Amino acid sequence: MKGICNCGAVAFKVETKVTGLYQCHCQLCQKQSGSTSNTAVIVPASSFRWVHGLQSITHWKKDTGFTSDFCKICGSPVPNKLRDTDFYWIPMGLVSDCDVAIISHICCSSKASWDVIAQDGLHFDDMPEDLDRFISRHTQTEPSGT
Ligand SMILES: [Zn+2]
Ligand SMILES: [Zn+2]
Repeated sequence: MKGICNCGAVAFKVETKVTGLYQCHCQLCQKQSGSTSNTAVIVPASSFRWVHGLQSITHWKKDTGFTSDFCKICGSPVPNKLRDTDFYWIPMGLVSDCDVAIISHICCSSKASWDVIAQDGLHFDDMPEDLDRFISRHTQTEPSGT
């Protein structure tokens, strides 16, 4: 799967099978996206590659640790490595060659009043407690060493 920002400066690819997307409706995602939510997937770092444009990325970090990485030319959010983990967060609006469905909605209890969440998929009031299990529901990592 390949992704590119609005201006084309930042490009990346992911080499793992993505089986479902999640949508986060929290207030940070509302402000970051300027909309209802972020639609994303979390993939193992070993499957993620920058194609070009690392020098065009800047970021903002909140005191709580929330980090937003974005293209300093066009402002598109771009992938970022989740702190202290071996996973990358992938904003799916940048990806054009993936047609899997949203299977999880998270932070539903803090959604915008005008956000109508699709009925499909699992709904979580907050962040899922078991993050490893949550991540593995959305990707199918190929066995290595074959
Ligand atoms: Zn850009
Ligand atoms: Zn969120």
